Amino acid sequence: MKPILHPSLVNDPLGDPGLFVQFLYEKRAFLFDMGDQSPLTNADLLKVTHVFVSHTHIDHFIGFDRFLRLVFGRGKTITLYGPENFIANVEGKLAGFTWNLVDRYDESLTLEVVEVHRDRLRKATFRAIEKFKRNDEREEPWDGGVILDEPALSVSAAVLEHRVPCLGYALKEKFHVNINKDELTAMHLAPGEWLNRVKQNIYEGASDDLAVQVPVGVNGSQEFALGTLKEKLVTITPGQKIAYITDTVYTPENVPRVVNLVREADLLFCESPFTAEEEDRARDRCHLTTRQAGLLAKEAGVKQLKTFHYSKRHSHQTERLVQEAQETFRGE
Ligand SMILES: [Zn+2]
Ligand SMILES: [Zn+2]
Repeated sequence: MKPILHPSLVNDPLGDPGLFVQFLYEKRAFLFDMGDQSPLTNADLLKVTHVFVSHTHIDHFIGFDRFLRLVFGRGKTITLYGPENFIANVEGKLAGFTWNLVDRYDESLTLEVVEVHRDRLRKATFRAIEKFKRNDEREEPWDGGVILDEPALSVSAAVLEHRVPCLGYALKEKFHVNINKDELTAMHLAPGEWLNRVKQNIYEGASDDLAVQVPVGVNGSQEFALGTLKEKLVTITPGQKIAYITDTVYTPENVPRVVNLVREADLLFCESPFTAEEEDRARDRCHLTTRQAGLLAKEAGVKQLKTFHYSKRHSHQTERLVQEAQETFRGE
């Protein structure tokens, strides 16, 4: 199976938290948190369609300005998710600039902002052409699960405690469509863009009778029923799950929220600013220790744990932080 989702931390574990997830075969990416983004190129950031902010402490949101500067004037619509008060945070950022000339341009940027509360989603739209005035405010009930639902993937969120509400996120590919390359060769068909369309048809639940034009030779094409292609070429396997947990505290209320969200993730990115013996400090600062990150990952049955957001006071012993979390995770 060739993974579709390619996640990587934006910075090293001592730097600002953030996760960049690229999609294979697509010029598209998701960004979790907007701290310092200097390792990301402009080309990377221009792929971003959705931004998932855990909370707006400065190390998680200072990158908003660079992102805004870059995407402005390109006719894009970007959706940003964040916790309680997020609409006001975005509005405040936008209010820091002068937009008197924007109405001379065609619609140059639309920000759809979604504020995740425990029982509802509050939404607002900010359009450049309207000088980023808050508009279309609306609200819908939310059951505490999925916040973004697309044919091929979903993103879920959980409202966690960090003395302010802080969001944890899980990105899930609904299922994985594998193409059998040997069978492709046996059918004398060449891989190409058409395979992406076939995958899209499958994700969208298209009828098996759908006629699919498959390129053959230099300029020719041959028609196949989607059902035939599925039967001969496609194996469906479980999709990837990637979870992102940062800035939260190990309490009896929070632990089940985290565990339910990240359950059986292939890869969990979890903060661990403090050493195992600093539990008091961690509780006081509303953060996790290495051991607590390991316990959460173990209890949730995740396959792989990657820790980050290390406290600067431990810059001389980052290996210890890795080791403590991994030993707990593996149950040693
Ligand atoms: Zn932080
Ligand atoms: Zn924080």
